[in-house]
Amino acid sequence: MTAQPFTATVLGSPRIGPRRELKRATESYWAGRIGQDELQKVAAGLRRDTWAQLAAAGLDSVPVNTFSYYDQMLDTAVLLGALPARVAGVADELDRYFAAARGNADIAPLEMTKWFDTNYHYIVPEIGPDTTFALNPAKVLAELKEAVEQGIPARPVVIGPITFLLLSKAVDGSPAPIFRLDELTDVYAQLLSALAEAGAEWVQIDEPVLVTDVAADAPALAEQVYARLGGLSNRPSIFVATYFGDPGAALSSLAATPVEAIGVDLVYGSTDSIAAVPELASKVLVAGVVDGRNIWRTDLEAALAKLATVLGSAAAVAVSTSCSTLHVPYSLEPETGLDDALRSWLAFGAEKVNEVVSLARALAEGREAVAEQIHASNAAVASRKSDPRLNNADVRSRIATITAAGTHRGSAETRRAAQADRLHLPPLPTTTIGSFPQTVDIRKARAALAAEEIDSAEYTRRMKAEIADVIALQEQLGLDVLVHGEPERNDMVQYFAEQLEGFFATANGWVQSYGSRCVRPPVLFGDVARPHPMTTAWATYAQSLTDKPVKGMLTGPVTILAWSFVRDDQPLADTANQVALAIRDETLDLEKAGIAVIQVDEPALRELLPLRKADQQAYLDWAVGAFRLSTSGVSDATQIHTHLCYSEFGEVIGAIADLDADVTSLEAARSHMEVLDDLNAIGFAGGVGPGVYDIHSPRVPSTDEMAASLREALNAVPAQRLWVNPDCGLKTRKTDEVTASLANMVAAARKTRATHAGIKS
Ligand code: GLN
Ligand code: ZN
Repeated sequence: MTAQPFTATVLGSPRIGPRRELKRATESYWAGRIGQDELQKVAAGLRRDTWAQLAAAGLDSVPVNTFSYYDQMLDTAVLLGALPARVAGVADELDRYFAAARGNADIAPLEMTKWFDTNYHYIVPEIGPDTTFALNPAKVLAELKEAVEQGIPARPVVIGPITFLLLSKAVDGSPAPIFRLDELTDVYAQLLSALAEAGAEWVQIDEPVLVTDVAADAPALAEQVYARLGGLSNRPSIFVATYFGDPGAALSSLAATPVEAIGVDLVYGSTDSIAAVPELASKVLVAGVVDGRNIWRTDLEAALAKLATVLGSAAAVAVSTSCSTLHVPYSLEPETGLDDALRSWLAFGAEKVNEVVSLARALAEGREAVAEQIHASNAAVASRKSDPRLNNADVRSRIATITAAGTHRGSAETRRAAQADRLHLPPLPTTTIGSFPQTVDIRKARAALAAEEIDSAEYTRRMKAEIADVIALQEQLGLDVLVHGEPERNDMVQYFAEQLEGFFATANGWVQSYGSRCVRPPVLFGDVARPHPMTTAWATYAQSLTDKPVKGMLTGPVTILAWSFVRDDQPLADTANQVALAIRDETLDLEKAGIAVIQVDEPALRELLPLRKADQQAYLDWAVGAFRLSTSGVSDATQIHTHLCYSEFGEVIGAIADLDADVTSLEAARSHMEVLDDLNAIGFAGGVGPGVYDIHSPRVPSTDEMAASLREALNAVPAQRLWVNPDCGLKTRKTDEVTASLANMVAAARKTRATHAGIKS
């Protein structure tokens, strides 16, 4: 318990492999191409390399047990012996773990959801009346041993009991899992003694939930749990890590307990409350001053100034990243295509470790010791400030002019009348969310273009052939508002980022999204502008093939921000407006080209919601403002749709109405009634398409089933406002499933039109 304080560390690191080695190995294992030994060999190699690099860079405490075959919450469920009973029959341990994560022919997987406000998804543990807890420390002990044998100053990391329970899901009638906190704390006590026995000097216990408003009594719970764990005699020194925001009242609660170190996120939280917590004077403060989840180079001067304000408040200050660098790519090294200026503004995982080490040296030896690093950081800051790509006066003045004039459209009734005259749709119009299956041919064409095996004319020809097929299919099915199917889009954000000024794509900037799935988010570094139309050629080609209206398909500004790495030198609201202006220009070009219906997708509207309630309204205001900026340029006769991928609106329901779209399609995984009742409760009066079938499953729903959903919906919403559509885009489905499901969907709409009393065709 009297371990030496450490001075430089990171809270965790990427684990998928610098070249996505773990992704390839796990997928090969799942496909039966390699055995478990080979998978384990890849995993051990990645751990060894990661630790060696962190130690060689100069960290004096290295996180271990941050490796995962799938997810750290699932690892924690295993650690606590809390996997659901339905996987218990899988004899092999690793297969049982993967069954919990992914399911198999007989076993439904656990749910997956977003990890705080990041784009990482965790596996949601289930706590039911039959759940028991029993310590299973094999993984953490094995990683500790492996690291120690390698000579690494290893610090095991586990997710803490408060975060684990508050992020778990109650099942089978169990009350909210947090009621089991006392019982679970006992298991953590056993864990701490096992770690002490194994020679761990420090343990990091992650409690990011303390920066949220998920539970009002979280600070009291923190005091209770850590007083108890801190009071144990046989334990390593305890470092409780909070991250993703300001711990607020939880900071003094933690400081009142006997834990030795407390981590605070000084990038997304503030230094304000630190001086007000006198108990910190006996603690190590682990200051997260290097941004662990965005890719910008740290301004070392600014970070040193921040550190200076907290130095007097703690017994010792260690420098760290704000959170695990799991959320950023491994290293800048493969990014050889960037110009020097751009490259100098960035720091990926490996570069962030160097920043931490430089800052810690500056604290220990004085800033002269890292004069060179500070000089380079200052040069990068100056270059970024003065780069003309970050200041497009035309874009800025256009936004100011438009927002000053207001982003209102005509009244809902005026629009409804104008659109009815133009579109002549039947009651209960049928449509889809945008994408059709991404077929093998589409993927082949994209790969061939990238490999320069075909030229862009040939690529365009093949995409047009896909569009023609999709239009013919929709005509044959009898849908009312058609789509072009999005064959040309690899990803709904990347597609736009590639065409807009102010973005760049990385060569190897992969980050784990969930399990073996990785994404390569674009980097939004400068002022955003649209040099040319992005979608009109595809949309007008599709429209030329049919007399039915074809819906133009765009991604909204909030979603583009949410799935990119975004510049941190101006408020997000300003950046959102720049993206919105580009989308607005696109809606106007689509309108000019004769497209009468335009959908602007905002599936990420809820994801970016701030973790603290006090910050949410300001976010919703700018998010709604950006959406309206992007959609309010068109005439009243042009119909604006939006699509959101969820049905549990919670705090964002008012914002959905404020988007002021003409038609909103949503998931309706719960019942239609509930979704529509929620909307009715806030006086939502627009068109609404609660998904009549779940596209996440290959099952083909029957006509009767979907007709029953429509009847149910008509109890809550008048026929004049109801649309008929699936839950989400169809790109992950097979063409035959889609054809059968949409045929039944159209039949259900027709049947309901014919039989429902309120409808006269
Ligand atoms: N238009 C997109 C599609 O159909 C929407 C995807 C989404 O909501 N995530 O694929
Ligand atoms: Zn969706």
